[in-house]
Amino acid sequence: MNVLVLGAGQLARMMALAGAPLNIVISAYDVNTDTIVHPLTLQKLGTGLANAIAEAQVITAEFEHIPLSILEQCQQSGKFLPGSEAIQAGADRRLEKALLARCGVASARYKVIENEADFKQAVSELGLPLIFKSALAGYDGKGQWRLKDAAKASSVWQKMADFLAEDNKQAIVAEQFIGFNREISLVGVRASSGEINVYPLTENHHVNGVLSVSLARPVDAQLQLQAEQMFAAIANYLNYVGVLAIEFFDVDGTLLVNEIAPRVHNSGHWTQQGADVCQFANHLRAVAGIPLGNTELLRPTLMVNILGEDSVPNAILGIPGLHLHWYGKQKRPGRKMGHINLSASSLAELKARFARLIDLLPPAAFPELEQMLGRVS
Ligand code: ATP
Ligand code: MG
Ligand code: MG
Repeated sequence: MNVLVLGAGQLARMMALAGAPLNIVISAYDVNTDTIVHPLTLQKLGTGLANAIAEAQVITAEFEHIPLSILEQCQQSGKFLPGSEAIQAGADRRLEKALLARCGVASARYKVIENEADFKQAVSELGLPLIFKSALAGYDGKGQWRLKDAAKASSVWQKMADFLAEDNKQAIVAEQFIGFNREISLVGVRASSGEINVYPLTENHHVNGVLSVSLARPVDAQLQLQAEQMFAAIANYLNYVGVLAIEFFDVDGTLLVNEIAPRVHNSGHWTQQGADVCQFANHLRAVAGIPLGNTELLRPTLMVNILGEDSVPNAILGIPGLHLHWYGKQKRPGRKMGHINLSASSLAELKARFARLIDLLPPAAFPELEQMLGRVS
């Protein structure tokens, strides 16, 4: 089967690697250059969306910030999964917030801001602290502003006013700042039959708005159930097919949804080693209409992102249970270049292996790993 992936980054690459044993062949469509490329070599295979669509049995996406005209063409083909509505809800925070409300899923209170009057109303209605996020094109914490102190309101507003003036289609979503205990995410998959399989909740640590470490281990059943109910509410509402990721704030055992990602997700990369069937294979199984795979945790596993580096000490490969995944990308500061998965048969063993890994990695390129080391228990 031929599956076309919109986007030619590491997620398309990892889908291709997971698809090969299932006889699923991936081609990647680079929306920026209108070319069809090989997902591993990025070698050009052809041009034009119409050609790409014609050659594919199924179309899916590895990211959500896709021009509407492309989404519409894919939707019209009848081959697009999870489909345009889900992708757009992941791309526009206004649609996302409305979707969560319609599904009865809790998230931070918010207000859409288009002008200064909206801004003032958000401050008075929602109170401080607030976090402001561009409605469109946000990822890795980009396009965000924070306001804690009322005395700074006009200077923060000025920055946002400049941003809004640049592009009149833009809007900003103001959200109550949540004092969470931790950030967690749920990655799961839904088949067209409605069957849902979810991986265990993963605990995530971000540095400067970018995911640094994800940790998967046995989780509290009550928390997992809450997350699964929210997952089912959203996925069923959208009649979703494929992998869907949901980021949560854990506030004293109660979950609030931060955002959703209508695709395979960085916080699910650990499933390549920590689960029987990884998120990439399960996404392909769902969109190809073949049975979903087991999503149970096989062994405690953590993932460390490699950001802005194109090498790591070879010695880390001597740590048992360690797997390296490079994306073959050109080095750029802060860019997601690859990740490390580390597994063990117990949490104590995982902690010892993680301590070894931290000792071998250059601390400047891998900051704050100790914060997650302390949580491996
Ligand atoms: P991603 O790369 O995950 O798509 P993004 O740019 O869409 O990131 P968010 O996930 O919305 O951004 O926010 C980035 C980080 O900012 C969150 O992981 C969290 O640490 C913090 N954050 C976001 N919203 C809130 C909030 N309402 N209260 C407190 N912290 C928040
Ligand atoms: Mg996001
Ligand atoms: Mg996020």
